[in-house]
Amino acid sequence: MHNPFPDGTTKPFIIAGPCAAESEEQVLNIAKALKPLNVNLFRAGLWKPRTRPDSFEGVGDVGLKWLKRVRDEIKIPVTTEVARASHVEVALKHEIDALWIGARTTVNPFAVQELAEALRGVDVPVYVKNPVNPELELWIGAVERFTKVGVKRLGGIHRGFSSYGEKKYRNKPTWEIPIEFRRRLPNIPLLTDPSHICGRRDLIYGVSQKALDLGFDGLMIETHDNPDEALSDKKQQLTLEAFAQLLCKLAVRQTEIADPISKQSLEKLRAVIDGIDEKLLDVLAERMNEVDKIGEVKKENGVAIYQPERWNDVRENVKQWAAEKGLSPDLMVKLYEFIHKESIRRQSNVIHGKEQASEK
Ligand code: PEP
Ligand code: MN
Repeated sequence: MHNPFPDGTTKPFIIAGPCAAESEEQVLNIAKALKPLNVNLFRAGLWKPRTRPDSFEGVGDVGLKWLKRVRDEIKIPVTTEVARASHVEVALKHEIDALWIGARTTVNPFAVQELAEALRGVDVPVYVKNPVNPELELWIGAVERFTKVGVKRLGGIHRGFSSYGEKKYRNKPTWEIPIEFRRRLPNIPLLTDPSHICGRRDLIYGVSQKALDLGFDGLMIETHDNPDEALSDKKQQLTLEAFAQLLCKLAVRQTEIADPISKQSLEKLRAVIDGIDEKLLDVLAERMNEVDKIGEVKKENGVAIYQPERWNDVRENVKQWAAEKGLSPDLMVKLYEFIHKESIRRQSNVIHGKEQASEK
């Protein structure tokens, strides 16, 4: 795997710093406190994409000099968000070590392409945050736009997905999306940003640990010297003390087992699982054969495919059997929703013939 990071790969790779640069003093204070914690990159937003127009929109270009001081005097490499070609130009002029693309930019292919053009032939690490909406292809597409112009050191940042209404997380983590991102782009390091996922301090440890448990490569965490007075995202920024404690508390899991004996027993268990999976599919195929037979009976008798009472009974049975077998009833009902959907599709095929059914 190529190394996208300015200072060599360390695992987990930690990016920390305030949501936004607010003053030279604030930036330097935070950076000094982070230095002994060996963070890999210092973050601070200069051009802030805010939801409402009267919010603090960042200090802009003037903050570049402050970040340069962090880099040159405190000796932590620095990163900031770029949303326009003009941001890229001034950031590179000030030797910003790495750039990130925000979630509100990743959603817009025109904006991403404009940034990609500004980075053509430039060797700087670029981290692409997921788009605000849960659309994997849009995220991967943005990464590809940078690959195509020759950006070699690329990373992904999972920052959660927007949804409507009251909810636990500010942005839902929807872990299956970053997991699939990782499967599709195995050579692109992937970090999680628990701050923007959680929106509140008390949830940050859980989400950070989960990302590490999944073998993700690192974390981007907002930290501030006085979060309650921060000009943006005050509820989610950690104090410097809380951040230091978090780093001590996080457990880093290995992705591979080193001990050969344990490795062998893992291989054996995996072979057993493969056998069970095959049997599971045999049973499913058997079930679907019976489903087809029911379809024939319904066809002969002119009966509707979907029968709500029967489906209710199946769900109740599944719940009860799942509980008896120590499985999660809710999860098993979800699994059965897929199985039921497939059963309906098969019966449609039986009743209407394949072509007509596939038009539905
Ligand atoms: C940020 O990192 O400060 C930020 C604005 O994040 P996102 O693009 O994930 O909302
Ligand atoms: Mn923020």
